[in-house]
Amino acid sequence: MLELKGAVKRYSGGGSIFKKRWLTALDHLSLTVRRGEFFSLVGESGCGKSTLARIVAGLENLDDGELHFDGRRVPDISIFKDRQMRRRVQMIFQDPYSSLNPRMRVGDILREPLRSFGWGDAPAIEKRVVELAEIIRFPLSTLERYPHQFSGGQRQRIAIARAIAATPEVLICDEPVSALDVSIKGQIINLLIDIQEQLGVTILFISHDLSLVSKISDRVGVMYLGRIVEIGDAASVFSDPRHPYTRVLLDAIPTVNRDGRRQGAPLAGEVPSPFAIPTACRFRDRCSLAFDKCAIEEPGLDAVASTRAHYAACHLRDRAQPRKAAADPPRIPGVEIFYTNTSEHQPSNLAKETA
Ligand code: ADP
Ligand code: MG
Repeated sequence: MLELKGAVKRYSGGGSIFKKRWLTALDHLSLTVRRGEFFSLVGESGCGKSTLARIVAGLENLDDGELHFDGRRVPDISIFKDRQMRRRVQMIFQDPYSSLNPRMRVGDILREPLRSFGWGDAPAIEKRVVELAEIIRFPLSTLERYPHQFSGGQRQRIAIARAIAATPEVLICDEPVSALDVSIKGQIINLLIDIQEQLGVTILFISHDLSLVSKISDRVGVMYLGRIVEIGDAASVFSDPRHPYTRVLLDAIPTVNRDGRRQGAPLAGEVPSPFAIPTACRFRDRCSLAFDKCAIEEPGLDAVASTRAHYAACHLRDRAQPRKAAADPPRIPGVEIFYTNTSEHQPSNLAKETA
């Protein structure tokens, strides 16, 4: 469905007019997302996740490399001027308030993409609006209200309904639950999973929350300093991580210990500056296993020997390196949040709350 080949994106980061400084947000990144899958991209803040999202959404051009959409090369973003092309890729953001027009009623927020993408005549549009309200479980009376009359979770539902209104093929979700309460997170995630299953839309889900991602993804890509360092089936990557960075991220997941405190191993060291990405292996400065070769030769993103669908960019990817918790799968808190059913979005309460 989506493919990046050797994608490069640089940003100017100040400097003088004689000598600009450039940072590398995407550094020869390659990635394939298959039709209909729930693909998650994880990595620390600043590693280039949102940049990748904007490129794939047709909001920014690459400096080098290729973007392919549905098997066809996208030469540059001018093809997104075509409304049918724009319809096919939609995006939702972390902050559902700033992405919704505060002066528009919810119903009009949903009608707008239907009109602009030529959904049909007025009755067809109204029929679709009713369907969308059902999908996000908004009583029809609430469509007359404005975004500020809803909670953060409800606003994110509106943003999701708007994004799927004209049946996109790809839905890019850039940290869509990072700003929400734990109890609400699960509901939004469940909604996305339902939408993916029912509409067959391909989801590119971006998050720095590995415990969440491990529960919901078909495949996962781990990003470090503008490059994918490990990618594969979520089950394989999370149960048998082969890149030291993925292991460090997994060990940093807070687990709840007996006295109820959350604990996670802190990530050692700081992310190197994207102005000066280390040569050879980009992770070697922070890697406890680094040896001579890591400073000389860049590891390719190669298949892990024992598996078919799992790749890691590490010279030691085929050496057994048990994690602290290797015998046990990581204890991940919050599993239950995907099944809780707090009342916020029950239609009756929603009507009450917004009445
Ligand atoms: P993430 O979403 O993983 O936190 P981003 O894609 O937002 O990372 O950013 C990657 C790097 O690119 C960061 O160093 C960030 O400061 C830089 N960056 C992102 N967008 C811009 C921009 N428009 N101008 C300059 N630098 C940018
Ligand atoms: Mg981001």
